[in-house]
Amino acid sequence: MKKFMLATAAVLSMGVASNALAADLVVGVSWSNFQEERWKTDEAAIKAALEAAGADYISADAQASSSKQLSDIESLIARGADALIILAQDASAVGPAVDAATDEGIPVIAYDRLIEDSRTFYLTFDNVEVGRMQARAVLAAQPEGNYVMIKGSPTDPNADFLRGGQQEVLQDAIDAGDITIVDEAYTDGWVPANAQRNMEQILTANDNNVDAVVASNDGTAGGVVAALTAQGMEGLPVSGQDGDHAALNRVALGTQTVSVWKDARELGKAAGNIAVDLANGASMSEIEGAALWTSPAGTEIQAKFLEPVPITIDNLDVVLDAGWIAKDALCVGV
Ligand code: BGC
Repeated sequence: MKKFMLATAAVLSMGVASNALAADLVVGVSWSNFQEERWKTDEAAIKAALEAAGADYISADAQASSSKQLSDIESLIARGADALIILAQDASAVGPAVDAATDEGIPVIAYDRLIEDSRTFYLTFDNVEVGRMQARAVLAAQPEGNYVMIKGSPTDPNADFLRGGQQEVLQDAIDAGDITIVDEAYTDGWVPANAQRNMEQILTANDNNVDAVVASNDGTAGGVVAALTAQGMEGLPVSGQDGDHAALNRVALGTQTVSVWKDARELGKAAGNIAVDLANGASMSEIEGAALWTSPAGTEIQAKFLEPVPITIDNLDVVLDAGWIAKDALCVGV
């Protein structure tokens, strides 16, 4: 489709809506896996945005394998992708695929998870703020005692962004001696069963002397709650994120304190539209809402951040009103 690029860039600069030019465009999406409920929502939103723009959606699921993700991306390129949206399984392993795409002039969107490369467009929620929101809700529910931090996947930069935000919020209470972080663990692959096993081991090592758990997403929160329940300790403050239906039910029931909600429908829609604009020749800095952002490692990247919203038992109406979950899918009335 590259023959279109010069012409479309010229039309873009004349101010014509880029979506009108999407016919024949192909956008390739490389998924890491579909373990969490949210990714099907993201996918539906990307597909809908592309369909509305007249562009085609092609995709591949790396099934949690960083090497499969590399070959997936090669094949998306071979299948004619004009833009790529990549949810990286392993941020440090995906580099060669980004090289291959950019060598061919194919724009890359680092979707939800940072790829440390200034040639990509980084589209995500404010993950540091997600971490702050998680810790804030847990701290409000449990202002003193022993804390456990259940982190995300070590190959996902979001794990440390979240952890950084959590620390910011807890630091004063730590310094004051009100709370102590007694243990913390990454969760390989964000797998809930791994979070459960880590939590079981931490409970054993600490003689169940734990008062609160800052878990980094709803899947890991589910594993934590299972481990707590096995010890008769359910009801301890636990955080999460994503607005998974199971987690919102735990929030309604009081076994999870907060699920930070990130409207994946909005992220997916933005990704589809940005992919079309970039494929049509827009430059990354021209993307609406884009700003130059500097990563903790010092890489300058054009990025766009959406705002997360913490959901507790006090504001479940937010996700109900947004049509994220139906009232009868929540086990107790609100
Ligand atoms: C996402 C979370 C998700 C986790 C596991 C993170 O990068 O930001 O929303 O729960 O990956 O898929």
